[in-house]
Amino acid sequence: MNSKTLGLDPANKLTIDGLSATCLSLACLLVCFFFVLPAAHAESGFEVHEIAAGVWVHTGEIGDFAPENKGDLANLGFVIGARCVAVIDTGGSRWVGEALLGAIRSKTKLPICYVIATHMHPDHLLGHAAFLDEHPQFVAAASQARALIIRREGYLSRQKAILGENLAQGTEVVLPNHPIIGTEQLDLGGRMLTVKTWRTAHTDNDLTVQDSQTHTLFTGDLLFVDHLPVIDGSIKGWLAILPELGALAHEEEKSVPVVPGHGPDTGRSDKELQRLEVITTKPTGPEIGQTKDISSAYFAAETDYLSSVAKEVRGALKAQQTLQQTVSSSTLPAHWKLVEWYHRRNITAAFAELEWED
Ligand SMILES: [Zn+2]
Repeated sequence: MNSKTLGLDPANKLTIDGLSATCLSLACLLVCFFFVLPAAHAESGFEVHEIAAGVWVHTGEIGDFAPENKGDLANLGFVIGARCVAVIDTGGSRWVGEALLGAIRSKTKLPICYVIATHMHPDHLLGHAAFLDEHPQFVAAASQARALIIRREGYLSRQKAILGENLAQGTEVVLPNHPIIGTEQLDLGGRMLTVKTWRTAHTDNDLTVQDSQTHTLFTGDLLFVDHLPVIDGSIKGWLAILPELGALAHEEEKSVPVVPGHGPDTGRSDKELQRLEVITTKPTGPEIGQTKDISSAYFAAETDYLSSVAKEVRGALKAQQTLQQTVSSSTLPAHWKLVEWYHRRNITAAFAELEWED
């Protein structure tokens, strides 16, 4: 996904302009700015819901970067412990990060000790800069720093190209200072978060987060719901880890709350979920009415899609088709959103990977 939007929405501009009439000095304006911003975000409809005790989620829009969504595309979360708060992803712009910080401050005044990035994509971490003054540890897979160093100029230049230098000012790619290798426990006081890295799958720096108290699982983009899965790592790796990841979504055979990187989490009501074609019309997977196990349906849908891409590409390679032939002959899958944007790209990524397999 590309980084795009950054900055203030019209509502915020109006708020600041209104204040400028009464705040005569620059210092006053700055003070007003920082105190008013969380309220302005609240008015902008930035919502969070409590999926489990002390575990809050913001659902991003399903779409690509656009000024209208301000980069609010990924699902975000925060977990409140007895000692401090952990944030899981910060959104695709500083605006989103600030809105999330405002939402956190409406629930707790505890310090934010960790800001965790589930992977390198800009829709998940370009809001990090909003948290710099909180002085958290920025947690990510150890492989993320290198990936960000390679990509950060591209992320930032695209921001400037879309928004202009003035509005792009303030956007930063914040490099992690708490790298994770394998698995680590983060202590929030009274509850631990297990952060776990994975072999290359959606990207080469995927990381999941699971809360010890409620078992809530944040998958990052290792799980897409409704939004077509996007391959930016390894389709073979992704298919290989899905059974293990799916197992984390169950505790003693009971499903736990699951927050995908995009699309509705398992805390949403059945009524909302039944509107999702990806679940209700899927031909082979479990349906809500049969199993009540929503996360199993989610994982089955994603596994089916990735398996079908791998099968199609392997068949094309066996038939000695070119990449262009394979892409142009591929039928867009049903039941997913954004297929026009991402399906052919997935075929291309899978082709490049699978043409070298034994
Ligand atoms: Zn991603």
